[in-house]
Amino acid sequence: MRMDKFLANMGFGTRKEVKQLIKSKAVTLNEETVKDSGKQFDPEADIVRVYRDVVAYKPFLYLMLNKPSGVISATEDYKESTVIDLLDADVRHYDLHPVGRLDKDTVGLLLLTNDGDLTHQLLSPKKKVPKKYYAHIEGQVTDADVAAFAKGVTLDDGYETKPGKLTILESASESVIELVITEGKFHQVKRMFEAVGKKVVYLKRLEMGSLRLDESLQEGDYRELTQEELEHLY
Ligand code: URA
Repeated sequence: MRMDKFLANMGFGTRKEVKQLIKSKAVTLNEETVKDSGKQFDPEADIVRVYRDVVAYKPFLYLMLNKPSGVISATEDYKESTVIDLLDADVRHYDLHPVGRLDKDTVGLLLLTNDGDLTHQLLSPKKKVPKKYYAHIEGQVTDADVAAFAKGVTLDDGYETKPGKLTILESASESVIELVITEGKFHQVKRMFEAVGKKVVYLKRLEMGSLRLDESLQEGDYRELTQEELEHLY
């Protein structure tokens, strides 16, 4: 990895600022002063110091993305744009993957990481991690739907879902709801509504486990998880 990129990723400032830092002879690589900000090295094997302090290499990155509609939750695709295409060049080398899938037209919370253990914990059916969605539904959502979801509904392939907590925010010709489920079957929210004869017309994920979508993120934007968010998730 390039030294300037490494230092910028580790939080020592912008590329321009870290170039200045290197110029001021504050940075050493294996005890030798670094003169070239493009110096290549292996962050897992080599020792970098800034003002004599060792820079601990951070192998994992955790990004919260507000997924926009129109991109798919995959790392690559030969014809569609993916969530990885939304990332800036400085985080591309982290080899991130989306934690679970949102449909192409679903928006909202998507965690991107290269930490396979966390991904496993959040996606393992045994862990029953709750996911909260906000949706617009064609037609009136009723208390009977709330009761049906609370028991579990039968999907088109015969699968009986676990109970879901459906909250009606508005019941009108287009209803507004929130739904919490602990599973992640393919198109699960849409198929649960199909099971009660209704159609989802807008779907947004708000929460996954303890992680809540930062509403200040515009669709398509992302930020790193805070230390607190990460500690709660693990
Ligand atoms: N359920 C769906 O139907 N779609 C999603 O994207 C997520 C959950």
